[in-house]
Amino acid sequence: MTASMQSSSVQTLAGQSVPSLVISRADQARRDLLERITEFVLKYDLNVTGSNLSAIGTALSGANAALAKAFAEREMASQPIDQRWLDSVVRLDPEAAGRMDELERLMDKMEYSLMRFAQTAKSAQSETSEHRGAIGAQIKAMTESGGDAGPRGEVDRVIDLSRAMLDRIEQIETAMERSQAETDQLRDSLAKARVEADVDHLTRLPNRRAFERRLTSAAQQAQTTGKPLSVAFCDVDHFKAVNDTHGHDAGDRVLVAIASILNTNASDDCFVARHGGEEFVVMFYGFDKDAALQKLDGIRRAQAMKQMINRETGKPFGKITFSGGIAEVCGVDDTREALARADQALYEAKATGRNRIVAV
Ligand code: GH3
Ligand code: MG
Ligand code: MG
Repeated sequence: MTASMQSSSVQTLAGQSVPSLVISRADQARRDLLERITEFVLKYDLNVTGSNLSAIGTALSGANAALAKAFAEREMASQPIDQRWLDSVVRLDPEAAGRMDELERLMDKMEYSLMRFAQTAKSAQSETSEHRGAIGAQIKAMTESGGDAGPRGEVDRVIDLSRAMLDRIEQIETAMERSQAETDQLRDSLAKARVEADVDHLTRLPNRRAFERRLTSAAQQAQTTGKPLSVAFCDVDHFKAVNDTHGHDAGDRVLVAIASILNTNASDDCFVARHGGEEFVVMFYGFDKDAALQKLDGIRRAQAMKQMINRETGKPFGKITFSGGIAEVCGVDDTREALARADQALYEAKATGRNRIVAV
């Protein structure tokens, strides 16, 4: 700290730079924060990745109060702050939900503007066609009357002017038709973008965004009907080794295969989504946690029995298993907490040997 203070300097009126023992409060706070982040990373032996540094930085600075609270609780309970735990708190980051809401609002706004534009264009179009009709009729009448309406030169000038107006209106109408077609196309693209925004591109399963929305409405429905609702996190075991041994593309194919196993074995009353990375989430409508455990454990066993083969190289992947954690959703306000409990259960499943499902 002393060395960094000495390196700071102030400018005198004569323009000379002299060392200063006074550094700005903001500077000092930044240095302190950096030091605390470094200490934290070293103390818990965490990876120096962008996502880790950002999570730790926002927690230690207090910018992310929820994360700061999670860190404090974890330290007070003397539980390990390791990569897995950090991944899970970042995964449940409430700010991500806020960003998704923002995107949703933006799309709504765009759709509304496009709808308004289409309406305006339509009414303008019907007005111009009325004017065009009226002017056309006027020209016809004037031409047929052969100049009775007034002196010859003047009538011709009015007819020419009217014809020019008619041409212009026709041009405007064509331009409006074109822009209406473009608006229709834009609305179409927006509708497609909305669907795409809910789909994971690798596995084509619904993504986390779609899942969270579905979970909120399912929790409301469960509250009304009184039926149970459970959620599960599933995480592929030792997946990093698959990537390391067979390459990232082969890893991708494994993820697609596991997504398909989960999706085809889950019944109609389940909703399977990719939460991110090698993690999936499943929602079980009408299942309490024990029933959900039975169901998911059946899928886990089916997967664990498979001998998977890398079809590009013919080499066996061997057995690829997954672990799962299950929790029951107790009420509409419990969705985030239920996900956190399911994540904690997954943590336990990993800690107690993997290739197993734990319900809490
Ligand atoms: P554990 O049993 O504890 O879950 O071990 P793990 O190796 O599965 O977990 P870890 O979190 O150490 O590694 C997960 C790996 O998943 C690291 C990351 O590169 C990889 N991964 C995440 N997303 C994708 C993806 O879309 N495709 C591929 N091929 N790999 C991915
Ligand atoms: Mg994982
Ligand atoms: Mg894993």
